[in-house]
Amino acid sequence: MHAVGFIGLGNMGGGMAANLVKAGHAVTAFDISAPALERASAAGCQVATTAAQAVREVDAVITMLQAGTHVRQVWEAEVVPNAAPDTLLIDCSTIDVDSARHVTALARDHGFAAADAPVSGGIMAADAGTLAFMVGCEDEDYPAVDKILQPMARVVIHAGGAGAGQAAKICNNMVLGVSMLGVCEAFALAEKLGLAPERFFDIASKSSGQCWSLTTYCPWPGPVPTAPSNRGYEGGFLAALMLKDLKLAQEAAAKSGATTPMGAQAEALYALFDRLGYGGKDFSAVLQMLRGELNALN
Ligand code: NAD
Repeated sequence: MHAVGFIGLGNMGGGMAANLVKAGHAVTAFDISAPALERASAAGCQVATTAAQAVREVDAVITMLQAGTHVRQVWEAEVVPNAAPDTLLIDCSTIDVDSARHVTALARDHGFAAADAPVSGGIMAADAGTLAFMVGCEDEDYPAVDKILQPMARVVIHAGGAGAGQAAKICNNMVLGVSMLGVCEAFALAEKLGLAPERFFDIASKSSGQCWSLTTYCPWPGPVPTAPSNRGYEGGFLAALMLKDLKLAQEAAAKSGATTPMGAQAEALYALFDRLGYGGKDFSAVLQMLRGELNALN
């Protein structure tokens, strides 16, 4: 059993903290939102009145915040100045690689072991304890990071040094955004050509077009009963969050000099979909925009 300070108990962090409690850890929770704290309290967390209080006298601190600015502010002003020596610091938010490297370097300069550990999997996976964690940290720190993350995880993978977890996350989600758009375009074309979408699915899923976006998360309603396309594109991975991750990928590509034209195109299409008012739908709903059938989403 460990004492864990948890900051950021929103859609993802709430379920993650609850799973740490279920695993027998003593969790001290802090969030600036009162409803988030109430939910954490109901799940068995001790509620702290400040971030500083949440990080004192614990073995590990986990942050799960919206963006790099939030993580920089919380680590610089609250976590690093107040955590006890030997506390392990882990950020699980999805943020830009530079911010991840900045905060972990700051922590190491102050003598802490630190890791970036963003997740794949949405709110249901956070609640169920089946997230995939991609970890960036020093080799010698990885076993301790892995141990803390396990109760929240389906799988934990060491991606490399500081920032490698965020790099893995944005590269993976760039594949996902691009592949989903490719699958959606193919369904839109199949329909125009008079090829039954279900028949196209049967063929492509057994041919070289096979991919996760097609066979696990099919954007066309019907062939994959568990996919969000069968429930009005609700309750999946929001298009607005896909856009966030594609923007992070493009920022990283611009800074590193990588050539990512398909990622850029995916970002532009998801930005358009978001501006049309559909950022709250699952990202596979972009099929309806490509079909010219946005009314199907209203
Ligand atoms: P969220 O907005 O629901 O939760 C963030 C929480 O942080 C909020 O409760 C907010 O009040 C709190 N917060 C903000 N500033 C704070 C501060 N200074 N001190 C304490 N608390 C503060 O967001 P979320 O959906 O839980 O996502 C969290 C992270 O996980 C994001 O980086 C997101 O990109 C990533 N992510 C989300 C999903 C998803 O499906 N929601 C999936 C994978 C990864």
